[in-house]
Amino acid sequence: MKEYSKITSENIKKLRDICTDNAVIYEDDSALQAYSHDEAGGSFYAHMPQAVVKPCSSEQVSQIVRFAAAQNIPLTPRGAGSGLAGACVPLYGGIVLSLERMNRILEIDTQNMVAVVEPGVVTNDLCKKAQEKGLYYAGYPMSVHSSFIGGNVATNAGGSKVIKYGNTSHHVLGLEVVLPDGSIVQYGGKRRKDSSGYDMVHLFIGSEGTLGVITKIFLNLVPLAGMTVDLMVPFESVAKAIASIEPVIRSSSVLPSAVEFLDGTSVKYSCSYNNMELPFMQEAQAYMIVQFEAENSEQIQTLYEKAGKLFLDMGALNVYIADNRNNSEKIWRIRRNWLESLKAIDPNVPTGDVVVPISEIPAMVEYIKAVGKKYEVDIPVAGHAADGNLHPAPLNNGSSCEQWREVSEKILSEIALKACELGGAVSGEHGIGFIKKNLLSITKKNQIESMLKIKKSFDPNNIMNPGKLYEY
Ligand SMILES: Cc1cc2nc3c(=O)[nH]c(=O)nc-3n(C[C@H](O)[C@H](O)[C@H](O)COP(=O)(O)OP(=O)(O)OC[C@H]3O[C@@H](n4cnc5c(N)ncnc54)[C@H](O)[C@@H]3O)c2cc1C
Repeated sequence: MKEYSKITSENIKKLRDICTDNAVIYEDDSALQAYSHDEAGGSFYAHMPQAVVKPCSSEQVSQIVRFAAAQNIPLTPRGAGSGLAGACVPLYGGIVLSLERMNRILEIDTQNMVAVVEPGVVTNDLCKKAQEKGLYYAGYPMSVHSSFIGGNVATNAGGSKVIKYGNTSHHVLGLEVVLPDGSIVQYGGKRRKDSSGYDMVHLFIGSEGTLGVITKIFLNLVPLAGMTVDLMVPFESVAKAIASIEPVIRSSSVLPSAVEFLDGTSVKYSCSYNNMELPFMQEAQAYMIVQFEAENSEQIQTLYEKAGKLFLDMGALNVYIADNRNNSEKIWRIRRNWLESLKAIDPNVPTGDVVVPISEIPAMVEYIKAVGKKYEVDIPVAGHAADGNLHPAPLNNGSSCEQWREVSEKILSEIALKACELGGAVSGEHGIGFIKKNLLSITKKNQIESMLKIKKSFDPNNIMNPGKLYEY
């Protein structure tokens, strides 16, 4: 393992010269503590940075990176810290480079249907800004109100709209990046096609801050749908709910824009957190949430009637239609606040992020429930069913913190390895960080070798976010 230099007060003076005094945090443990963890496992996985630096321009980022490289100080880029894999945790101390002040929407170019943004823009702020211009940014992680666009790009975030619009990588047309030697480069831009050589834009998507700092992002926007409708569908069994996913997607003339799944336990926790009641909460073991978009109410009606009938044929207890904002928001709040509701019970609740081909979802859910029985723990599951992405979240059954960390890691490893056996992967959207790097090394051995070659060519001194993705 590489030895890094410790930050000195002389170093801090230089960093304060690059930014401003109040953009650098040093020797203030309570302020630094907020940057020691993300949303994965709370204090389980925290590591303190020595300093936090908050630049407000690409030039400042470039100077900080150059300085850190020259001084052999590790540097961890950080977005909103909403990650679920420990990816922005400064494992080796050093500098956390927070992008929170680079939060400007630089342009909504309606003619080209492109947004140009800084990395610290909250995802939902971009969604709202685009909507004001009749356009739509189709990235919609459940953390839409807290995560930053830069973090979404660096983790290749998914969310509920992937079935129709793809994950973050589908929306990114170009990036400006500060490389580990401090140079500022732009890959791609407003153009929609580019087959001139390697696709450098996509190399940085999902790179989790290990190859450089993303300082500007060009994003594809699409026309805003005229209307949406949401269906909430309770089922008496998980198996019946899961069996309905594929037929509903396949038989719709228009791809649904979301197909989400929550098991009965998840719904109970989330409803209690949100102070809400849903029909069939005693009987239902699973709920589906499906969204369609269309131009007008006739089209919407055709879509939801067809899907609703199919759900009933597949054994749904009932089908509830939400065709106004208020009711839709109630349904989505249950899904969006799912993880928060579990954190209210166990602040360290770990979250899996397995993905399998959609035909394997029933086998995957069955396996998760069997693992829960084996370890005698409750494992609520929710997920983006339309793309086979499931989040099992084992709840501590009374073990001590250390014991629980060991047991929960075992549980999530068994589930992740099963996902790979079913043709899936250990992470569908949250990324690897350091928490899943053992799993990555087991399941993608041959790819790690290529990843390391790329890493070494960009960052031979391993300054950028060391300890993430792989051992190096
Ligand atoms: C309640 C909840 C719901 C969630 N739902 C979803 C979901 O539906 N879909 C989903 O995909 N994720 C989800 N997440 C996980 C998380 O929100 C995403 O991973 C998100 O993309 C992280 O963004 P962030 O800004 O918080 O990044 P951070 O957590 O701060 O950082 C994540 C990684 O990105 C790197 N990084 C950040 N900014 C930059 C930059 N400018 N340049 C280079 N590297 C950078 C960091 O170094 C780190 O490796 C959820 C999390 C929570 C807490």
